[in-house]
Amino acid sequence: MALCAGAFFIHSAQKQPMIFLAGYRFCKHQVTGIKTHWRCSTHKNHGCKAKIHTLEDNSIIKCYNIHNH
Ligand SMILES: [Zn+2]
Repeated sequence: MALCAGAFFIHSAQKQPMIFLAGYRFCKHQVTGIKTHWRCSTHKNHGCKAKIHTLEDNSIIKCYNIHNH
């Protein structure tokens, strides 16, 4: 979880919710049950596999903050 220290959530009425972490942006990708999956914003362009899983209360339960860019 140390890699996830400092993550913060952006909730905006106009834009997609996002997580900022260590200079990277994560976009909301999928909701499965109580879990929300977030992917690095460059996933589509670079195939980056970094991801974060959160619960409804925004607690981070999984963090893979390894980027290929
Ligand atoms: Zn990335």
